[in-house]
Amino acid sequence: MNQSNTLRINTSTLTKSTETNLLEVKNLKKYYPITSGLLRKEIGQVKAVDDISFTLKDGETLGLVGESGCGKSTAGRTILRLMDPTSGSIHFQGKDITKISGGTLRKVRQDMQMVFQDPYASLNPKMMVGHLVSEPIRNYYPNRKENETRSEVMELLNRVGLSEEAYYKYPHEFSGGQRQRIGIARALALRPKLILADEPVSALDVSVQSQVLNLMQDLQQEFKLSYLFIAHNLSVVKHISDRIGVMYLGRLVEITDKKSLYREPLHPYTQALLSTIPVPDPQARFKKERIILQGDVPSPENPPLGCAFHLRCPYVKPVCEQIKPPLKEVSSGHQVACHLYG
Ligand code: SF4
Repeated sequence: MNQSNTLRINTSTLTKSTETNLLEVKNLKKYYPITSGLLRKEIGQVKAVDDISFTLKDGETLGLVGESGCGKSTAGRTILRLMDPTSGSIHFQGKDITKISGGTLRKVRQDMQMVFQDPYASLNPKMMVGHLVSEPIRNYYPNRKENETRSEVMELLNRVGLSEEAYYKYPHEFSGGQRQRIGIARALALRPKLILADEPVSALDVSVQSQVLNLMQDLQQEFKLSYLFIAHNLSVVKHISDRIGVMYLGRLVEITDKKSLYREPLHPYTQALLSTIPVPDPQARFKKERIILQGDVPSPENPPLGCAFHLRCPYVKPVCEQIKPPLKEVSSGHQVACHLYG
C-alpha cells in the first residue's frame, strides 16, 4: 500500500511546544451555558469537562472511562476541535491547536480522525462503501487520480478484513462488526496519527468486540497510531489501553498505567468501578467484594463543592466537602485526585 508522504500536509506554521508527546491537554474545560427567558439570559453552566490535564505519547493508547455523562466523549470531541474549548490548551504534535480555525484546523484534522460508536449511523446509507472510505481522500486531494484512490481503498478494505467486493456494496449489506471495520478503514484513509475511538465496540456482540479490538491493535502497530479510547466498559478498556484515565463528573480522578490501575486502584470511585467487573473464576468471585455506591451522580449543572464524589464516597472526610482535591502524582506516573493521598 502506498503510505507515501503525498497524503501529508506541512503544519509547521503552527506554534511549537514540545516534541515528546503526541498530545498534551492542560486544564481543559468545556462548559455549556444554561439560558432562560426570551433574551436567553445565562443563568448557569453545565460543566461537562472541568479542568482535565493529561498527555498521550506516540503509539500509545489512553483509555478514558467513566459512567455515561461523565464528560469523556465531550472531552474527546473538544480535543479533536469538533467543538471549541471554554478554556485550557491542547497541543498536538507539539503545536498549539487550541484556537486555530479555518484552513489551519482543516490541515490538523487530517492527522486526527474518529471512529464512532454506531457505525451504521455514521455511514451514509446511500453511498457505496468504496466512496465512503475514499471520501476523505477526495476531499483533501481532489486532483488525485481515481485509479490510485480506488486501489488504495481496496487495500485498506483488505487490511481491515473485508474483501474488495465490499467496495461496490452499501452499508446495510454488512453486519455490525463489518460496518465498524468500514468505519475504521475510513478513519485510516488519510493516514492519521491519532484516532479518537468513542465507544467503538459497545454496539457490537461480545464475540465480535474482541475481533474488532484485536484488529485495532494490529493496525496501531502497522500505521503507527495513537488511540484515545473512550468506553464505559472497563474490560474493553483493559484489553486495549496502555494507560487509563478515570473520569467522574467532568473531572479526571485517577490516571495511571493499566497494570497499576487494575492491581491497585487508589481513588474510591475507581475501586467501586473495578469491583463491578465480572470475574470468571468462581473462587476469585467469592473473594471479591462488590462496592455498591449510594446515591446518583450529581448533575454537572450543579456539581457539589469540594470533591465531586463526596456525596457517594464511603471514606468522605470534612475537608472533602469544602476543597476540591487536585490531581497529584502519588507514585511514578500514578496520579489521583483524592484527599486520602496527601
Ligand atoms: Fe472520597 Fe474525599 Fe477522596 Fe473525594 S477526596 S474520593 S470524598 S476521600
